[in-house]
Amino acid sequence: MPSEEIMSLYKLGKLDSEIYSVRKKASSLDPGNKIVEEIRLAQTEWNIDQSNLDKTNARIYELESEIFKISEKIKKDKITLYESGNVTSREAQVLEKDLLVQEKRVEDLEHEYLNLLDEKPPLGVKANIKKEKLNRLRIKLDQHQKEVKIEQNKLKEKFDILIKSRSDYIKEVNPAVLIIYEKIRKKNGDTGISEINKDRACHECGHFVAEKILDSIRSGNIVQCESCSRILCEIVSAGVF
Ligand SMILES: [Zn+2]
Repeated sequence: MPSEEIMSLYKLGKLDSEIYSVRKKASSLDPGNKIVEEIRLAQTEWNIDQSNLDKTNARIYELESEIFKISEKIKKDKITLYESGNVTSREAQVLEKDLLVQEKRVEDLEHEYLNLLDEKPPLGVKANIKKEKLNRLRIKLDQHQKEVKIEQNKLKEKFDILIKSRSDYIKEVNPAVLIIYEKIRKKNGDTGISEINKDRACHECGHFVAEKILDSIRSGNIVQCESCSRILCEIVSAGVF
């Protein structure tokens, strides 16, 4: 049967292991980095498609205005040429030549304009799909962050309870042993005590416990594991739990 001293230390060790695992769990909570990265990519994709759509719209607007301007000029030139009656034949020649150039220009612009009108709807659909994807990811991130927050709060609550009861556990431990224990615990991060399992090994690090060490523990001495330095105790084999 382990001594009261070891039992108190063992209980503290169990509590510290629990505190350690809560801490570890809290620090390993995923803040949603993968979704953030997905959002970044989706944003880039959407920016490209939206910019293509914007450029197309801008060009369509530009073409409309240019076609209108040239068409107006053609109308005016035709009036000058055919209706004004005060154009010399030399001027008429120049105007006619110029009209041909302008009409060809309008034809080219209209061709480009119609092509762009055909291209615009699929570009809009493409940009919309990307935008919806982006919105879905933003909702997903928001949901994930809310869940993480809930989990964080739960762990914090659990942590606070454990820390509070730790001060009671400490009171039960021999102060001299506690100093040794705390030094080991701080070094290992989790607990400063380890059970000897049924294979006669340190439960925490697996190091085999020699017969003479076991004898020393059974005589009531505080003995540390030769490998991980944790204080060794025989609890399970003693049938305490
Ligand atoms: Zn060990």
